[in-house]
Amino acid sequence: MTDTRKNLIGLSREDLTAEMVAIGEKPYRAKQLWHQLYNRGETDFFNMTTISKVMQQRLHEQFVVERPRLEREMSSVDGTRKWLLGFPDGNEAETVFIPDMDEERGTVCISSQVGCTLTCTFCHTGTQLLVRNLTPAEIVGQFMVARDSYGEWPTPDDGGRKLSNIVMMGMGEPMFNFDNVATALKIAMDGDGIGISKRRITLSTSGVVPMMKRCGEELGVNLAISLHAVTDELRSELMPINKKYPLKVLMQACRDYPGASNSRRITFEYIMLKGLNDSAADAKKLLQLIRGLPAKFNLIPFNPWPGSAYECSAPADIRRFSDILQDNGYSAPIRASRGSDILAACGQLRSESQRQKCSRLTERLAQGIDDEHFPAQRQQQAIS
Ligand code: SAH
Ligand code: SF4
Repeated sequence: MTDTRKNLIGLSREDLTAEMVAIGEKPYRAKQLWHQLYNRGETDFFNMTTISKVMQQRLHEQFVVERPRLEREMSSVDGTRKWLLGFPDGNEAETVFIPDMDEERGTVCISSQVGCTLTCTFCHTGTQLLVRNLTPAEIVGQFMVARDSYGEWPTPDDGGRKLSNIVMMGMGEPMFNFDNVATALKIAMDGDGIGISKRRITLSTSGVVPMMKRCGEELGVNLAISLHAVTDELRSELMPINKKYPLKVLMQACRDYPGASNSRRITFEYIMLKGLNDSAADAKKLLQLIRGLPAKFNLIPFNPWPGSAYECSAPADIRRFSDILQDNGYSAPIRASRGSDILAACGQLRSESQRQKCSRLTERLAQGIDDEHFPAQRQQQAIS
């Protein structure tokens, strides 16, 4: 028989309270339950010691506490860990943890959709036909699986935990699934539960201008913009969304982003594409474009996939590009290419061929073969 019980994960505080009231419990019970779900990470109602036996039984009859199904876990020698997750409709997503330089802390990369409705020409996700929004449970559940894996329940009071940051940089355009992303991130930020501060959460967007203000006001998270070009001509070719929201409009929305300041800079992601956007003149144009904005950069060597039409820039050209930005006072780390394999793969490994490629890489990483190409500190630079 199919289990028709409702999953409590992913409900907002208000909705959880409403569910408790609906089964005849007092609203404050929702607070105790929230703590069990998101601070203790408890999945079995009968282990929830702060909840009465009668209520435990009632919860068990009506509800479940469910994570996305863990299909596979992969670890590398440097502490990077990936989880292949399955959803009830057969779809899959990947979640990746990338440790910081000191390996004390690190970032969990999360997907917002299966596939993406946008068709950026350099992005493998954009080639996937089937697209659906992930639910709040599937979004926050990705982080919870990661925390299960590291055994970081309950949330430590002193904030001393390895999984310290979140980036919405996996598969999908988070602004096109904003309500679900917002519900999930509010759960992740809630101090009585998972407790990741908004200062440690970054949302990456291709530039969905009308949603940016709301994102800043409602969530107050750090913003990353996938920029990738300094002229409308090239950006429209790479990212069709630029035809709708061209650079001038996008830059104005960045200037208006609530909460951006010198201590909370907007990250501009810039994929390095050979002969297309990687000249010294492009770097100078980039500086003009972001003039007056609290900005930092993240230079991403293009990560090719079967059938992709681009080549990655030469290392010397990437370095020159980075130097120009840094000489003008901006942080402009280069994401390590091996790392970009893993990071770009975050949520993008739905097809079997890609998945096999990834497992080969992971095996090599596990054997230490790719160690020198994949130093943890380069990863950290790229994310922080
Ligand atoms: N849709 C959002 C977030 C997901 S993409 C966005 O576009 O920002 C996360 C990052 O991976 C983006 O900066 C995207 O441009 C980059 N990316 C996509 N395909 C890539 C590739 N083949 N090589 C390197 N980076 C890639
Ligand atoms: Fe979608 Fe982002 Fe990929 Fe563009 S880069 S297709 S917006 S996931």
